[in-house]
Amino acid sequence: MKFDTKLIHGGVSEDPTTGAVSVPIYMASTFHQTQIGQSQYEYSRSGNPTRHAVEALVADLEGGTAGFAFASGSAAISTVFSLFSAGDHLIVGNDVYGGTFRLINSVLKRFGLTFTTVDTRDLAAIEAAITPQTKAIYFETPTNPLLHVTDIAAVAQLARAHDLLSIVDNTFASPYVQRPLTLGVDIVLHSASKYLGGHSDVIAGVVVTQDSELTERIGYLQNAIGGILAPQESWLLQRGIKTLALRMRAHLSNTEALFHYLQDQPAVAKIYYPGDPENPDYAVAQKQMHGFGAMLSFELQPGLDPVKFVEHLQVITLAESLGALESLIEIPAKMTHSAIPREIRLANGIQDELIRLSVGAEDPADLLEDLERGFANL
Ligand SMILES: *Cc1c(COP(=O)(O)O)cnc(C)c1O
Repeated sequence: MKFDTKLIHGGVSEDPTTGAVSVPIYMASTFHQTQIGQSQYEYSRSGNPTRHAVEALVADLEGGTAGFAFASGSAAISTVFSLFSAGDHLIVGNDVYGGTFRLINSVLKRFGLTFTTVDTRDLAAIEAAITPQTKAIYFETPTNPLLHVTDIAAVAQLARAHDLLSIVDNTFASPYVQRPLTLGVDIVLHSASKYLGGHSDVIAGVVVTQDSELTERIGYLQNAIGGILAPQESWLLQRGIKTLALRMRAHLSNTEALFHYLQDQPAVAKIYYPGDPENPDYAVAQKQMHGFGAMLSFELQPGLDPVKFVEHLQVITLAESLGALESLIEIPAKMTHSAIPREIRLANGIQDELIRLSVGAEDPADLLEDLERGFANL
């Protein structure tokens, strides 16, 4: 089955008992066991038919064998990090989601895990960070907010050579654009609150695995920790996923249009977009991505105030988050990345003038007119 068809017919796409073409929302905490241990489901934390349907679907989409749905991307990430024990060392991309940075620094370090952050585009830097205690490499590509692209297959191969797990947060690309498990990675995860859900109406997270031992361990942790996705949200997520291809095609073509427009703006100092042929990551992006994603960031000339730009837009919504039908714009230094100390932010290349844009599915003419309004206000 082709990817676009899997979105609609993959996983469990209809109710096996009634044939309903939309899997019903099974609001039940427990299930009747006609004989002890004989029921398909026992208790909804351990398994629920609506959740199971969307879990099977995301496994199909990522080319994995098992999917797990969580109450948020953060719950998914915490559960994956729970694979590790005190004393373990992990290598983490230096440009990860702000909430992941917070989880690592304020929670996981207290539990005795240690971390080294590296630019995962640099294989030698990864190799240099490996210690006898290192257990995994965790990264995002494209990254947030600078859209750096890491060569997934190369890192997966390096990880395997050193007996380390490789884990990719695939939120920014979506499985329409790239599928890390097919490039050799062990675990892929998402904040499904973004492209997978797609409609700014659900907070959810997913994890997909391929290997049977890892599948068993993640399943165990999902049930033991309990951060599961509820039936109603599972249904909303599946409903959202059905239109992923339709949405992504609109997102991708709008992003190209906005990129070309921004290239001609004198107020723009720099554009971060993997589809820019001048971008040093362009060749890797072209190799592993199907389209270049629908996120782009740009820096205004030094001294220009990004607040004046974003607060006068009328179509593009000033908001955190991404991957929605609505175009969403934000200033990382003041919003998504404000928890990161300024000197670390600057060292990682996130200037105060940086603006991040999640390109929506509106008519591109309205988006261009809106950006024009922002520039006029500077
Ligand atoms: C939003 C996001 C998360 C966290 O997901 P939530 O659903 O908000 O908990 C993790 N990683 C990335 C890349 C994100 O954009």
